[in-house]
Amino acid sequence: MADLTTLTAPEARRLLVRREISARELTRAVLDRLQAVEPDVRAFITLTADEALQQAGGADAALGTPGGDPQGTPLLTGIPVALKDLFCTRGVQTTSGSRILEGFVPPFDATVVARLRAAGAVFVGKTNMDEFAMGSSTESSGFGKTRNPWDLQRVPGGSSGGSAAAVAAGECLLALGTDTGGSIRQPASLCGIVGLKPTYGRVSRYGMIAFASSLDQAGPFSVGVEGSAMVLQAVAGLDPLDATSAPQAVPDYLAGLPGGIKGLRIGVPKEYFVPGTEPDVERLVRAAIAQLAALGAEVGEVSLPYTDYGLATYYIIAPAEVSSNLARYNGTKYGLAALDEPEMVRAMELTRQRGFGDETKRRIMLGTYALSSGYYDAYYLKAQKVRTLIKGDFDRAFERFDVLATPTSPTTAFRLGEKTQDPLAMYLSDVCTLPVNMAGLPGINVPCGFDGGGLPVGLQLIGRPFDEATLLRVAYTYEQSTDHHRRRPGREVMSQGPGVDGGVVPAGGAQETRR
Ligand code: GLN
Repeated sequence: MADLTTLTAPEARRLLVRREISARELTRAVLDRLQAVEPDVRAFITLTADEALQQAGGADAALGTPGGDPQGTPLLTGIPVALKDLFCTRGVQTTSGSRILEGFVPPFDATVVARLRAAGAVFVGKTNMDEFAMGSSTESSGFGKTRNPWDLQRVPGGSSGGSAAAVAAGECLLALGTDTGGSIRQPASLCGIVGLKPTYGRVSRYGMIAFASSLDQAGPFSVGVEGSAMVLQAVAGLDPLDATSAPQAVPDYLAGLPGGIKGLRIGVPKEYFVPGTEPDVERLVRAAIAQLAALGAEVGEVSLPYTDYGLATYYIIAPAEVSSNLARYNGTKYGLAALDEPEMVRAMELTRQRGFGDETKRRIMLGTYALSSGYYDAYYLKAQKVRTLIKGDFDRAFERFDVLATPTSPTTAFRLGEKTQDPLAMYLSDVCTLPVNMAGLPGINVPCGFDGGGLPVGLQLIGRPFDEATLLRVAYTYEQSTDHHRRRPGREVMSQGPGVDGGVVPAGGAQETRR
């Protein structure tokens, strides 16, 4: 049997349903692969191998029930999936990448986790991420740094870098991440895979550790577009436990994939080829757009004049929400507590001082400042008004176009440490993705080639609210006309032995937990 870890999720589904492979075989292959490459890639904070094998056993039972109907089993039955470590998982540590939550074991599943469970998914573990999802490189994690499987000296992007790297490296077939300003699309781009950020409200946020509640949205990573459609199918839809989840009906995303893009109007926002965009990125994204035209789309230029204000606006609104959302971590409810300090207020201060990393502290300070009396109107209120203008840009563009096409990230994967001392340079990684969150729109990354150094480049497609189906169809049509998704990072890259920092396994890094 060929290497099962190179299967895409729909390929695995077909083999599982035909009983040509078992869920246990598939899960074992993925766990073996994980063990072999994890010392180099370090995509996981917590592994759940035992639970995965048990779930795989259950999947085999469901698929093989005598007289049963394997076709009728839920879509993800027996498929190994990784979860970003900010989705609450019943009985399994959930840290949000922060030492302040080390040891926190939720008593319940996030809605998306419950839905994936119901769809038959096999959970292999919880993936590394920037602390509380703030970052673009996964370097702000309290649990060590994840490396890009295409080049171990480089970052996988972030904040869902662990999920993206795990999928790219074959340590799972699918993964779930979150995207507040780009954290699914940007790491997908840097790791050469598909990543979809759904419309705000399309997917429940219940049980997802909050970063910026008006922007956060969960979504899938996969090799190939079809896998992301499978995950979205399983997790999308109204949830009574999340008042911001939307009642819109969930279409059949898989059925909608074929059908082509003839006559579809694709707009190219001219402001998105920002200064600092690498020449290879611009060249490959423009070539992908030309390919969409060759496939029958009508392509035209469009202007989104408020794009320039996106970054500044995001860095008021998101930190403001952080300063409020992160107030709850004070040692009295979950995780770390400075028990050595008897005085209550001092103990809370110490807990936060010890538990939060630098970037988290920076955001809390930025946000608290922007919300403080006298500054609220000048910063926060003003930012909310500009947010409306940014949304207006998109509304106007969608009167003329069905989909917008841009680079996902202005650069390919950068070197570990390259931007950690310069927060603004790091923030600029998301300049093409942040406005999409502020307008609440869906966006997808689809690989569109490799730069001169062999690093993946991604095309971002942006859609109308709740029109993930069109995004998936455009991405699928494009993908089927290229070979990029067939290229995977070589095993040889991940067996070079000790990586950049001497192969020291991060303290608290991937541990087996079963509780
Ligand atoms: N990099 C952006 C930030 O740090 C976006 C992160 C995200 O989408 N979670 O805020």
